[in-house]
Amino acid sequence: MPPVTSVPLLDLQGQYRPLRDDILRAIERVCDSQRFIMGPEVEAFEREVAAALQVREAVGVSSGTDALLAAMMALGIGPGDEVITSTYSFFATAGCIARLGARPVFVDIDPVTYNIDPHAVAAAIGPKTRAIIPVHLYGCSAAMDELLAAANGAGIAVIEDAAQAIGSLYRGRPVGGLGTLGCFSFFPSKNLGAFGDGGLVTTNDAALAHRVRLVRNHGAEPKYFHKFVGANFRLDALQAAVLRVKLPHLPAWTEGRRRNAARYRELLAPLEERGLVRLPAEPVGCFHIYNQFVVRVDRRDEVRAELERRRVGTEIYYPVPFHLQECFAHLGYRRGQFPRAEDAADHTLALPIFGELTDDHLCYVAEALAAAVTAS
Ligand SMILES: *Cc1c(COP(=O)(O)O)cnc(C)c1O
Repeated sequence: MPPVTSVPLLDLQGQYRPLRDDILRAIERVCDSQRFIMGPEVEAFEREVAAALQVREAVGVSSGTDALLAAMMALGIGPGDEVITSTYSFFATAGCIARLGARPVFVDIDPVTYNIDPHAVAAAIGPKTRAIIPVHLYGCSAAMDELLAAANGAGIAVIEDAAQAIGSLYRGRPVGGLGTLGCFSFFPSKNLGAFGDGGLVTTNDAALAHRVRLVRNHGAEPKYFHKFVGANFRLDALQAAVLRVKLPHLPAWTEGRRRNAARYRELLAPLEERGLVRLPAEPVGCFHIYNQFVVRVDRRDEVRAELERRRVGTEIYYPVPFHLQECFAHLGYRRGQFPRAEDAADHTLALPIFGELTDDHLCYVAEALAAAVTAS
């Protein structure tokens, strides 16, 4: 092996190569059938992924964003409604609320997990609140017991944004089946990635699943008879076929990420002890699947620049919390209102964590980070 001189944030080639023949055969099967919309591949994938996630119903959709939209549309959320979510997530979480004409109500995060603060959620529930959207950020579940207690007390829905958390467990149970509905993404960089866009809505409520299925296909039942206005949120048969090949490998890929996280903890322990790096938390009862391995450092932008000079790929998830986004200025939030999210936005950095990294890669990243955080 030549010495490591660079480490990308993500490289999917190593995952693809051993599955290449199986995946091309699956694609060929769909092409030969000429059935591209719905059909047996989508149905089989829905059954297989529902079993893997220990949830009664799984509905394949066109993206994680559309999973959130379809879930909210199935609940009838719209103008006049409020939906509470974290101010710190990927844009889709908040964008979907606004797109349906509802009002996003942002709250601050827990400083240790970066997930939504359940006390802040309880305080934000009002007469117009229809749902809470906790995000299992980076692959670590939100505090679901507290969130479900608050939601049940108020009689409102919980939509889990599990886009980054497929296979993550909360007190031994897979996320996505804990709340009213769960939403997943198969964007290529997620732990189960399609060859393009894809998503999933999960629920244990059969009636709600039926509504999601209608929403996915223009609200039609039967064809050309429209009960309400839905959209085209269908998962492509080609994507379902690719996902069916990949799904059985997900537990092994998750183990690879967790092994890398454990190794980083060893390698970075000296920096953590000196207070130079804060490592991700893995709270009791939370089985983290490390879609991202996010550390907190001082002088983050300088540290990132030094890592870039040493050819280590990093990313900032996310540099601007929702309450400071230009498109939400009309909601009237101000800087300083959610200090923990603002601190995370200014000081965190995602390191390479994908399962195919070797020990040499991890050592290279750890050494580069040590040099970056100790540079004067
Ligand atoms: C990726 C992601 C989404 C959106 O998924 P897409 O498939 O890209 O539409 C939503 N929420 C979170 C937290 C995500 O990370």
